Amino acid sequence: MAKTIQAIRGMNDCSPIETPLWQWVENNVRNVLQSYGYSEVRMPIVESTPLFARAIGEVTDVVSKEMYTFWDNDEQLTLRPEGTAGCVRAAIEHGWIYNNEQRLWYMGPMFRHERPQKGRYRQFHQAGVEVFGIANPDIDAELILLTARLWKELGIDQHVSLQLNSIGSLEARKNYRSALVEFLQQHIDLLSDEEKERLEKNPLRILDSKNQALQDVLNGAPKLLDYLDEESRAHFAQLCTLLDEMGIAYEVNPKLVRGLDYYNKTVFEWVTSALGAQGTVCGGGRYDGLVEQLGGHATTGVGFAMGLERLVLLVQEVNQHIAPSRAVDIYVVHTGEGTTLPAFQLAEKLRTNLPHLRTMTHCSGGNFKKQFKRADKVGAKFALVIGESEAQNQQVVVKDLLGGEQQVLAQADVVDFLETAFK
Ligand code: ATP
Ligand code: MG
Repeated sequence: MAKTIQAIRGMNDCSPIETPLWQWVENNVRNVLQSYGYSEVRMPIVESTPLFARAIGEVTDVVSKEMYTFWDNDEQLTLRPEGTAGCVRAAIEHGWIYNNEQRLWYMGPMFRHERPQKGRYRQFHQAGVEVFGIANPDIDAELILLTARLWKELGIDQHVSLQLNSIGSLEARKNYRSALVEFLQQHIDLLSDEEKERLEKNPLRILDSKNQALQDVLNGAPKLLDYLDEESRAHFAQLCTLLDEMGIAYEVNPKLVRGLDYYNKTVFEWVTSALGAQGTVCGGGRYDGLVEQLGGHATTGVGFAMGLERLVLLVQEVNQHIAPSRAVDIYVVHTGEGTTLPAFQLAEKLRTNLPHLRTMTHCSGGNFKKQFKRADKVGAKFALVIGESEAQNQQVVVKDLLGGEQQVLAQADVVDFLETAFK
């Protein structure tokens, strides 16, 4: 036998058993986004490498060590590690945001070269939102309301909580950065080698260190919120007020800075304790400078991305009454001379008249027993049986596969019968 080839580590298949749950999650995402009037966009999976380097920042984990990059002749390309950079690129390129407000969303695979573990993969899927041209914090609040609604739809709202912070303007962050570095230098012996390197390049990331001794010391560190510029402070206060008034609970987490460089003002994460170490299911924030940084006219932006694998895991963990739906409702069984054509015709008629039902026609012959076995296997509720005499008399035997009863109907009456049976 030939040697088998396996999938790449951290890149998963989705089996026919798993897809109903995935589709259910994706449909909920789509429906909620549409109910807020957002428009879907689709971008390529591959973009030029400098786009990510410029948008996300050279010193971030994503750009410095997680990207899948390759040469295509003399151009360096990267499998997208996130969606914001490509969305901003497309928006500038096609003038979507020139003097215009846009509320956009996308869904699809992302790629990061990380150590695979539960909730962390090398190919994973995100649904993301990007809103351009609205500077007011009311839109920050809307994004949070929208995600809160989605958690309710998914039945996970009792298992996620909202962390909120403001990281202010670039200028405010610079001032804070110096204060933080000065503070951390007094505790340099607590820093790992990686954190020492971060101290030079990206010291704010040290705030979410996993090192408990360091975390204890960090409780006494200068707080970014104390360094905020007036405008960011007012923006944050308005956002918090609106969330309070809308009844959205949150915790202000002064250590929340998010991994990517492009954020300013609002940052937020929805976290859960039900998934172990990979607790962040959704993260986002404002990125008012990004469009200009990528060569567009200065336009404000705010968005978030959620990890679909983590949402699916969370739904499986906490919302077990969501049973994957049956793949098939009706199985058409036929055997004998002249039965294939009426079976196909009957199945087509059902699909035309009852498109919400899933009708499967048996293929490749075999006796009744074998065909009924298939009907059970695919989980059908009814079998429609056409033998030679039914074919001749335009009749069909309808067998309830769960209850066991069966009856003979005229083919002309089957649509009405099934319509009632599936009400
Ligand atoms: P983490 O701290 O878990 O690495 P991140 O800050 O790198 O997350 P973002 O870039 O903000 O993540 O991406 C948004 C969301 O995408 C995350 O909150 C998470 O749900 C999901 N996500 C990110 N990386 C992965 C991955 N490798 N596998 C699965 N989901 C991921
Ligand atoms: Mg990460």
